[in-house]
Amino acid sequence: MSARIDGKAEALRVRERVAEGVAAFKEKTGRTPGLAVVLVGEDPASQVYVGSKGKATVAAGMESFTHRLPDDTSQAELLALIDQLNGDPAVDGILVQLPLPGHLDEDEVIGEIDPSKDVDGFHVINAGRLSVGQDAMVPCTPYGCIHLLKQQHGDLSGLHAVVIGRSNIVGKPMAQLLLSENATVTIAHSRTKNLPELAKSADILVAAVGRAEMVKGDWVKPGATVIDVGINRLPPAEEGAKGKLVGDVAYEEAAEKAAAITPVPGGVGPMTIAMLLRNTLVAAHRREGLKDPE
Ligand code: NDP
Repeated sequence: MSARIDGKAEALRVRERVAEGVAAFKEKTGRTPGLAVVLVGEDPASQVYVGSKGKATVAAGMESFTHRLPDDTSQAELLALIDQLNGDPAVDGILVQLPLPGHLDEDEVIGEIDPSKDVDGFHVINAGRLSVGQDAMVPCTPYGCIHLLKQQHGDLSGLHAVVIGRSNIVGKPMAQLLLSENATVTIAHSRTKNLPELAKSADILVAAVGRAEMVKGDWVKPGATVIDVGINRLPPAEEGAKGKLVGDVAYEEAAEKAAAITPVPGGVGPMTIAMLLRNTLVAAHRREGLKDPE
C-alpha cells in the first residue's frame, strides 16, 4: 500500500508561511497585500469557491475584496471593473472566477488583467513567461502539484512524467513546470493511443482529465507517484443525497501500485488555494520591487 500524500496538511504549512510573509511584508512596506475576486452570476459551486478564497485571504492577514456582479453584466462593464482593479494600488492580485456566463468572452476578460496582478496565471503573458523560463505568475493548481512532487521526490530530474490532460489551466502548465524541473515529459490527451501503456511507463503520473476514476490500478507503474487533479461528483446513491467526490484515478486500485498518491478530496484541491495566497504575496513583493518571499 502506498503513502497518501496529505495535501491538506501541506496546504496548511504553505498558508502559515504565507501568513508569516504577509506580516513581514507589512512591516517592511507599511501596507497590506490585497486580493480582488470577481464573481459574475449565481453559479453555486463558484459562490462556494469565492467564499473560501475570501476567508483564506483574510486568514493569511491580507485584504480581500469581493466583487459580486449580476448574471447579466455586460462585457464592457466587466472590463471596466478590471481596469479599475488594475489601477487600484490596494489590489495586488485579481482573480476572475471561471466559468463566466456564456455571453461573456473569457479570453478577452483574462487578457484585460494586468499580467503582474494575474494571480491565476492564465494571462498569455504569464503562460509565455512560464514556457520560456522567465518569472511568471504560475497557475495555482499545477503550482500546488509541483510543490507536492518536490516535497515527495526532492529532485525530479530524469524522471518520466506523464501528464494526462492538456488544458491551458492545468495540463499544459503542469508539463512546463515538470520540464523546468528536468523531468522527461509526455503529455497525453483524448487522442492519445495506448494510454494505459503510456501511463504505465510513468514515474510521475498526473491525471487532469475530468473523468471519474478513469485511471485504473493496472495503468500505474509499481513505485510511481500519482497526482490526481480531477474533481468529479458521482451520481448520488439515493435521491436528495450528495454524490461522492472522486478523482480521475481509481484510488484504491492505484494505491496498491503507487509509492505515493494524492487522495480526492484532500490532495491537490487544498493546495490550489494555498498557492493562490502565495501568488498574491509574490505579486505584492514584485510590485514593491522586493525579491520573492521564501
Ligand atoms: P479540461 O476539460 O479543460 O481538460 C481535460 C483534458 O483531458 C483535455 O486535454 C482532454 O483532451 C483530456 N481528456 C478528456 N478525455 C480524455 C480521455 N478519455 N483520455 C485522455 N485524455 C482525455 O479540464 P481541466 O484541465 O480544467 O480540469 C481537469 C480536471 O481537474 C477536472 O476534473 C477539474 O474539475 C479538475 N480541476 C481541479 C482543480 C483543483 O483545484 N483540484 C482545479 C482545476 C481543475 P483534449 O484536449 O484532447 O480534449
